[in-house]
Amino acid sequence: MKFSGKNVLVTGASRGIGSEIAKGLAGFGLKVWVNYRSGAEAAEKVKAEIISAGGEAEVIGFDVSDEAAFIEGIKTIVETDGELAYLVNNAGITNDKLALRMKNEDFMSVINANLTSVFTGCREAMKVMRKKKFGSVVNIASIVGETGNAGQTNYAASKGGVIAMTKSFALEAASSGIRYNTITPGFIATDMTDELSDEIKAGFTAKIPMGRFGDASEVADATAFLLSDHSSYITGETLKVNGGMNMA
Ligand code: NAP
Repeated sequence: MKFSGKNVLVTGASRGIGSEIAKGLAGFGLKVWVNYRSGAEAAEKVKAEIISAGGEAEVIGFDVSDEAAFIEGIKTIVETDGELAYLVNNAGITNDKLALRMKNEDFMSVINANLTSVFTGCREAMKVMRKKKFGSVVNIASIVGETGNAGQTNYAASKGGVIAMTKSFALEAASSGIRYNTITPGFIATDMTDELSDEIKAGFTAKIPMGRFGDASEVADATAFLLSDHSSYITGETLKVNGGMNMA
């Protein structure tokens, strides 16, 4: 796959979908900044895997919901590499409860981690990328942001917000040569979905036309396409990676 830029920051790249995105992009020749919040050891392992496969990577730990830390992280990258060409806002959490039992702090913890953080990243990336009149950002939302899900009012609001916000960034940045797109994964086998009971997993699987959970590498492939030169005329788009769920 062809990439005109040289480096990428992947948030939440120590595990799951983020680590597959990081490894995939390194395989296409990008220098990858592997972000994590608490899993320093896991992030170092991702870096080591990339380097042993012949790629280039650095680890950069910060909490994406901490605005100052995110700004500082991007500053470090630009001071080191002279640019930030690509950003993948992947880090995310769940804090599931039925709405009647959900306190505002439960709601806001997910909004801050999944939505406000993506706003910070998109804004700071735009400041840097517009100087070179080039950049591409992919935000990882969720099918739940399109359909809603019982027990996830906070998560659905955060991911629906990411979908709408990405389109607004795309409109504001198109004339600066910067593209913003969203991926909405369906159910992907990671630690996040491993928390679900076998019964709930079976219930979701029954609703997936392809009859299985997705693999993190399948989200990584779609992410690489949307970042790359191969999608150069696509911006503000939402790409579903969900095995055929929610085709409307
Ligand atoms: P995961 O296995 O739980 O991994 C989450 C990653 O995000 C970890 O690397 C974690 O780092 C990092 N992270 C969480 N909060 C962070 C923060 N505040 N600052 C920096 N890093 C943070 O999750 P996943 O399943 O790979 O999900 C990745 C993304 O895809 C999320 O945005 C999720 O909402 C979305 N998604 C997942 C699915 C699915 O079925 N798995 C479906 C749709 C969308 P630490 O380990 O260091 O905390």
